[in-house]
Amino acid sequence: MGCRVLSFHYVLTNDKGEVLDSSRNADPFQVMEGKQQIIPMLEEALFGMSVGEKKLLHVPAEMAYGPVHEKLRIKVSRSQLPPENVQVGTQFTAAETGNSVIFSIVKIEGEEVFLDGNHPLAGVDLNFDVEVLAIREATAEEQEHGHAHGEGGHHH
Ligand code: ZN
Repeated sequence: MGCRVLSFHYVLTNDKGEVLDSSRNADPFQVMEGKQQIIPMLEEALFGMSVGEKKLLHVPAEMAYGPVHEKLRIKVSRSQLPPENVQVGTQFTAAETGNSVIFSIVKIEGEEVFLDGNHPLAGVDLNFDVEVLAIREATAEEQEHGHAHGEGGHHH
């Protein structure tokens, strides 16, 4: 069965109106239907739109990157980390209940280092200002690879 490729522009803002991400200065984003490449609620809305249509979509945090998990906010001592890497913004991968989680250093106070394993957008309600530019059938090669090719897609 065929599936579709949809290209769209988006501007992502939080509820304060701050721009978190945008495709406007680059190629439009291409998404292949049913591959869970983007937030499911966003994908469903986009594939229900027509070419040229614009919409403002509000996606609650629970439907996007989920709530903030306090247990993923941990404090370690500086000596537990590789000394050359202890600075705000450094990321570590750690195993957490079977899944690998990326922890970022968010704060350092003396010997105490605060790590956060939450997605940066956890707990954030998202607003996508979207414009659908094109919808087409995926090529046989794209369907085989499971992603879109060309502008805004994969290049091999
Ligand atoms: Zn490919």
